[in-house]
Amino acid sequence: MQTAIRDAKSVWQECLKIIREYVPDQSFKTWFEPIVPARLSGNTLTIQVPSEFFYEWLEENYVHVLRRAIDHAIGRQGMLEYAVIVDKGDDKKPPMGYTVPNQRPAPQNAPAPQKKANAEPEQLRNPFELPDLDGLELTSYLNPIYTFENYVEGDFNRLARSAGHAVATKPGVTSFNPLLIYGGVGLGKTHLAQAIGNQIKASDAGKFVLFVSTEKFMNQFVMAVRNNSIQNFTNFYLQIDVLILDDVQFLAGKERTQETFFHIFNHLHQTGKQIIMTSDRPPKDLQGLQDRLLSRFKWGLSADLQMPDLESRIAIIMKKLHGDGVDIDYEVIEYLAHSIDTNVRELEGVVVSLIAQATLLRREIDMNLARQVLRNIVQDSEREVTIETIMETICQHYKTTLQDMKGKSRKKELVFPRQVAMYFAKEYTDLSLKSIGYHFGGRDHSTVIHAIQTISELKEHNKDVKAQLLELQKNFGKRN
Ligand code: ADP
Ligand code: MG
Repeated sequence: MQTAIRDAKSVWQECLKIIREYVPDQSFKTWFEPIVPARLSGNTLTIQVPSEFFYEWLEENYVHVLRRAIDHAIGRQGMLEYAVIVDKGDDKKPPMGYTVPNQRPAPQNAPAPQKKANAEPEQLRNPFELPDLDGLELTSYLNPIYTFENYVEGDFNRLARSAGHAVATKPGVTSFNPLLIYGGVGLGKTHLAQAIGNQIKASDAGKFVLFVSTEKFMNQFVMAVRNNSIQNFTNFYLQIDVLILDDVQFLAGKERTQETFFHIFNHLHQTGKQIIMTSDRPPKDLQGLQDRLLSRFKWGLSADLQMPDLESRIAIIMKKLHGDGVDIDYEVIEYLAHSIDTNVRELEGVVVSLIAQATLLRREIDMNLARQVLRNIVQDSEREVTIETIMETICQHYKTTLQDMKGKSRKKELVFPRQVAMYFAKEYTDLSLKSIGYHFGGRDHSTVIHAIQTISELKEHNKDVKAQLLELQKNFGKRN
């Protein structure tokens, strides 16, 4: 037994070597690090994966890499089996495992792997007497502008978007039930949740889809308590086919609302209805939510939205401009994408103001206008320190010009201020090294790293430089 475990381990280590070569770091961390080699019997390696979705994702996206890895570690006759931990969130029943062999050798367009029959939710009869729905006008409270078509896809949202798409195609049937979409403000949670709802409505108008903010849900509940009509409130929610609850973090600390939601959740889930939730933080950080509710969230999938990467930011700006029928220089688009790295909402806000300003002032949208708009917007918001203000401050202090900052000259009296400005840009903004380099005349990210290192070292060892930096720092205030 002991040796078998060790063998599985070392075989899997061999596999990982190959996998690492093909899979980007972030994906490797997400999809391969959580895998535990379970056993090796004969030519078959069994790996344990955390969920059914995990297994489906691997099979869909990495089957060829896995095949290569197995070829390398075991040989052509090698087989791979998955052990899936099924956590039903029930304290009394521990997670169970079941195995799913994959196809060998992996054929092109392999048929979808068979799920175990008992993975589907059991159909239960709804114990409530429900009023007849026919003839009732049911409003979804969906905003038709939020669609998949105008939801830009990128590395930053791929998982959430594909899960959302799967749910929209087969609500209540996939293993992504509930689907919890989480991520910081303005990253597209509400848009995605609404897009799912809109697509479901578009393909089946008869489905009762309801989008409700958690705040509204809580207010309705409070009213129901006041009017002695909790039963009606609950009954209403039990008729829903697809429930979208936005910003579920607001349920924190609201014990009675949570209790009622818990019952609604259970009934909807048991009857194969789809539940979609959004949250501004991952489930593990949802303090103030009852454990039994949180454990329900684990039944499905939690998918996060990250900050959009540079390419995605460019795509989002272009989409927005295109939607408004505006055409501007790529140079300006690139400048905006390099300057705004907070969230999609802010990115959109800047594009909207830019268009508005251009219309009001009857001006072309060019770099100057873009700079001006960006400066105004950033001054209005809480984050005062921008790369522009940093560069301007440094220029004033060292009596040089923005042009020199961006220029090619390597004269010592220019290189130093430039490096100081890069150092502060890293300290005081969230811009990536690549974007910082962009603002300094398109310099490479390694040049930025070098600058930061040089200044950090000088700060340690050179009293004069340290004093200068402290003096300059006063202009920028405390970091965040
Ligand atoms: P959240 O709910 O996460 O705070 P929203 O869904 O309200 O964010 O998104 C903020 C704005 O950004 C909305 O106008 C939305 O349409 C837009 N947006 C977000 N993500 C995307 C995306 N991937 N593609 C296009 N627009 C997006
Ligand atoms: Mg939102």
